[in-house]
Amino acid sequence: MGSQEVSTVDWQGKHVTVAGLGVSGIPAARALHERGALVTVVNDGDDERARAQAAELEALGITVRLGDGATLPPSTELVVTAPGWQPDKPLFLAAAEAGVDIWGDVELAWRLRGDNGKKAAPWLAVTGTNGKTTTVRMLASILEAAGLRTAAVGNIGVSLLHAVLGEQEYDVLAVELSSYQLHWAPSLRAHSAAVLNLAPDHLDWHGSMEAYAADKGRVYEGNTVACVYNAADPATEDLVREADVEEGCRAIGFTLGAPGPSQLGVVDGILVDRAFVKNRQKQAQELAEVSDVNPPAPHNIANALAAAALARAFGVEPAAVRDGLRNFRPDAHRIEHVADIDEVAYVDDSKATNTHATEASLAAYDSIVWIAGGLAKGATFDELVTGAAKRLRGVVLMGADRALIHEALTRHAPEVPVVDLDRTDTGAMSEAVEHAARLARPGDTVLLAPACASMDMFTNYNKRGEAFADAVRARAETSA
Ligand code: ADP
Repeated sequence: MGSQEVSTVDWQGKHVTVAGLGVSGIPAARALHERGALVTVVNDGDDERARAQAAELEALGITVRLGDGATLPPSTELVVTAPGWQPDKPLFLAAAEAGVDIWGDVELAWRLRGDNGKKAAPWLAVTGTNGKTTTVRMLASILEAAGLRTAAVGNIGVSLLHAVLGEQEYDVLAVELSSYQLHWAPSLRAHSAAVLNLAPDHLDWHGSMEAYAADKGRVYEGNTVACVYNAADPATEDLVREADVEEGCRAIGFTLGAPGPSQLGVVDGILVDRAFVKNRQKQAQELAEVSDVNPPAPHNIANALAAAALARAFGVEPAAVRDGLRNFRPDAHRIEHVADIDEVAYVDDSKATNTHATEASLAAYDSIVWIAGGLAKGATFDELVTGAAKRLRGVVLMGADRALIHEALTRHAPEVPVVDLDRTDTGAMSEAVEHAARLARPGDTVLLAPACASMDMFTNYNKRGEAFADAVRARAETSA
């Protein structure tokens, strides 16, 4: 059977254990129950919310076991897990010992696609340490511009199970996949896939960088048309080399420089394709201008090239790539331009929660007042600070682990003025913006790119970004 064909499972009477009563567990349990499986949901927590959710499932005839997510129900023939559950959980060890398969939410969606009589749309998949959401949204925008019925799904708003089982018909899906999801998706076979970049992240979950990379690399398994890699990140190309793909599937690189044959790249401010053209030794096809990418920061141009490569692999015409990129609006808190005040730009990249993302963000501006700090999650900042030192007008630090960044600045950029904010209350961000404004000169960018998680001071990165934008707007009003 070809890798893209739909396989059918006879669910009738099959004992399935669903691990986790979460956003993916509940719809999985329902879908399997509707197909005749005998479903038991196991969940570690046993709080009020879990009980209410359990009661709803029990009313349908689904068994729910609260307060014990560790023991495998004896008759289990298949485990379907929430992606975030750590692979060394006793439940999974017991399943492995008993020879029982473990599927994540993505694997389940992949296996159930087409079983409701709906067309099984091919998947264009995107993974990587940073840029996944942006790239998948750009890709969906391009596919839409090409007149295709599509959606951005996966580790992003709409769940894959919903997209696969819902009423809506799709021609193709733009799928964001996390390393956790890939870990639990053994039979997924995308039409084409991209790994945007690889930097250490979530190593506690995967156990090692090798294991993390290997899980990312699974996205290429069984690709039929193109494996898209980042020419500036050789680790992504290594993963293509190691992948077992369908015959005729090509390795396609993207680069911010001039592209070689079988690559997409940039020439004189134009995004060009030297991969999906008739004579790639001699010809290149213009796709769009750099200024069509929103915002045209280097890492975002890389995202646009990756999205374009996947769309071109699917047969999309160049004009639709351009239109899709033009129509694309980035999500909030991702290098979002908030305001210009006194010739200083204020940019919210609260989503830069690790050093790799912040490095990209800092590389996008020439002269920066950098607002950073929060929870470092074990990161070190020497490389980040060394790379950005020349472009820093000043730095405002806040949050629990700010001393780590301060120490790196003292070591590698001692001449850069640093304001160290020793407060974590709700007014802290306003004060940070005040200090930043004082440090900035006309033409500078005040950039919130914390390189840290937000939970020491904010509920999440959205709230942190909103606090920054509120403070900037308040300032804009008083200075107007
Ligand atoms: P993800 O879904 O992988 O978390 P996002 O598109 O939400 O990615 O972007 C997350 C953060 O990473 C943002 O702060 C953004 O500035 C940064 N970023 C986006 N694309 C890239 C890239 N190609 N390389 C490095 N950092 C990036």
